[in-house]
Amino acid sequence: MNKEDWSSIFDEEIAILNDKGDTWHLEFDESIEPEKPDSRWKEYIRKTSARFSCTSCTRTWPSNQVMVVFHMRLMSRQGTVKVRPLRQNCKKCKSAPMLEPLVKQDNIRVLMENLVQKVRRNCYKEDIEELNRAFEQFHVRSAHEPDHCEGCKFNVCAKE
Ligand SMILES: [Zn+2]
Ligand SMILES: [Zn+2]
Repeated sequence: MNKEDWSSIFDEEIAILNDKGDTWHLEFDESIEPEKPDSRWKEYIRKTSARFSCTSCTRTWPSNQVMVVFHMRLMSRQGTVKVRPLRQNCKKCKSAPMLEPLVKQDNIRVLMENLVQKVRRNCYKEDIEELNRAFEQFHVRSAHEPDHCEGCKFNVCAKE
């Protein structure tokens, strides 16, 4: 996964809060679970699109049903956002490994813009209007595969 892109785009978007005097950083954390933030952490779950490439065969597929879980907290001037993009696996391979999504930079930007609005509301109690910019969708022909999707297993996959 392009984690460097996630981190650098997060840094760029969170810079809008520089004048608050706190430091913020993004951490990938596979141990966080959707709808179970630890006490004093706030949660934000957002859908995006991504591509997946199976490491057992050559199959790749796009998905517009990729859920990303964020848990955020501001404590002692130290802001932390934990992120866990939920995975999918290949429907053709037996015991195919779960794969991390490859999200396009434009869509990471959309996620982070929306996330920063949540940080402002949740951690700074700012009464701002949330714009919730939409992500760019792929043209997907095959149906979503609940048996091969972590979001569905956690029952947080947005059904539309
Ligand atoms: Zn495969
Ligand atoms: Zn799903």
